[in-house]
Amino acid sequence: MDILKCKLLVIGAGPGGYVCAIRAGQLGIDTIIVEKENPGGTCLNVGCIPSKALIHAAEEYSKVQDADNSETMIGLSVKGASLNYAKTVSWKDNIVNRLTGGVSGLLKKARVRSISGHAKFRDGKSVEVETAHGPQIIEAEHIVIATGSKPTELPYLPFGGNICSSTDLLSLTEVPKKLIVVGGGYIGLELGTAFRKLGAKVTVVEAASSLLPHYDDALTRPVLARLQQLGVEVLVDTKAKKLGGADQSLIVSTGDGNERELEADKILVAIGRSPCTDALELDRLAINMQGPFIQIDDRCQTSMRDIYAIGDVTGEPMLAHRAMAQGEMVAELLAGEKRDWDKQCIPAICFTDPEVVSVGLSPKEAKAQGFDIKEGMFPFQANGRAMTTEREDGFVRLVARADNHLVLGIQAVGENVSELAAAFGLAIEMAARLEDIAGTIHAHPSRSEALQEASLKALGYALHI
Ligand code: FAD
Ligand code: NAD
Repeated sequence: MDILKCKLLVIGAGPGGYVCAIRAGQLGIDTIIVEKENPGGTCLNVGCIPSKALIHAAEEYSKVQDADNSETMIGLSVKGASLNYAKTVSWKDNIVNRLTGGVSGLLKKARVRSISGHAKFRDGKSVEVETAHGPQIIEAEHIVIATGSKPTELPYLPFGGNICSSTDLLSLTEVPKKLIVVGGGYIGLELGTAFRKLGAKVTVVEAASSLLPHYDDALTRPVLARLQQLGVEVLVDTKAKKLGGADQSLIVSTGDGNERELEADKILVAIGRSPCTDALELDRLAINMQGPFIQIDDRCQTSMRDIYAIGDVTGEPMLAHRAMAQGEMVAELLAGEKRDWDKQCIPAICFTDPEVVSVGLSPKEAKAQGFDIKEGMFPFQANGRAMTTEREDGFVRLVARADNHLVLGIQAVGENVSELAAAFGLAIEMAARLEDIAGTIHAHPSRSEALQEASLKALGYALHI
């Protein structure tokens, strides 16, 4: 058997792996990337992109439907709104294909060799890949594990039949009439809201005492209010127990110790994601783990020299942009550059309705770290742009050190606030103080003015409230 040799071998072509390989190729490193499915990983194929396409389509349909039911606030009415869901799905798939095709092109352009197949370790310097043409051995000076994550199963509700993972739900060809969502986190609420807008009756079953437990109550309150307005039933402090009558219902135990049977055509289980490590045969190596995840240091190095790990396989936060930033850093390290993980923050966006953004520390986290803080909050009710787009719910909130006004965190909830994440992240990464944001001219009318006003509020002189 021919043995392929390279300087860098990347296992997994998700956002972490493909960015690492492209950057390594650009830097002149002889690189091979191995992928067992389509390039683009979870994010492009069954995650970020298809879910956001569906969220957009659902929002458009819901707006038209509102105008079909009665004349809207702006005087719009429509007759006979309908949705050709098969066309929606094919539009979504087309976006996925364009992006995954683009990744293949970018890898080629960077002169990265791509091998299709499943990789497993032989030792710390070589892997065996099961390809369509038989096994292929690859020897490398450095190996990056970027194998990502997969949906976590509940042992008593295994995927299959009516029980769906996010991947299954995104590939349905028709909208279920009744959908139960187990897990009111990122995936459950993003997809649950979209399917409600597409016409499903949706019930969310969340084990914790609040939805989106990663975010504080002030941020999630507008999301809960909108879910209720849309007619989504939300059950907190409630756990899924087992399937009921002919697999068409779910028995749950509620916080008060009672049981309830909920009817369902489909049940989405979205209770988190687990790292893809089992099939790599890591037991042949001496890699330290941190729980189920691969342990890394601030250069993404594992406990074995020359083996790195990036992205979801290394744990939370499981976000595409974190994986990409790690991938870029590792490629630059291997090219001899001095790099380590020096990021001040990793923005998080939840694409619910309204959207939630959090960058840096929340007030509670800042206090827990011992900071004496100043807070400034500006509601979209007082923002002209929000009024002109009919969505005044939500706010921008800013957290800064009380002594020197260094901005520690910025959060927002509201329509389209995802687009403010860049401004929030830049402010924190550049070590902005309240005065820097307050002194920057923010274009009018825009939702970003709420950021400037929140900093003015923290300084004690908001102008528009
Ligand atoms: P992955 O994208 O999981 O890629 C790993 C790749 O490795 C896969 O292609 C897999 O086939 C391959 N692989 C695994 N094992 C092997 C092997 N042994 N041999 C060869 N190949 C292998 N994140 C965001 O930042 N924003 C969002 O809006 C967002 N939305 C999401 C929506 C959904 C429904 C889901 C499920 C996830 C979402 N995420 C989002 C999370 C995001 O998709 C992940 O954080 C990101 O994809 C992680 O990138 P990665 O490169 O670490 O792994
Ligand atoms: P999650 O951690 O966001 O939410 C899981 C929820 O399930 C939690 O609220 C948890 O309390 C609940 N839960 C756990 N066990 C339960 C049970 N037995 N019954 C009922 N509820 C239960 O996980 P997720 O929504 O599966 O998403 C996985 C990861 O994917 C996230 O951590 C996130 O990093 C990533 N993601 C990101 C985005 C985004 O950036 N917009 C979107 C989707 C997914």
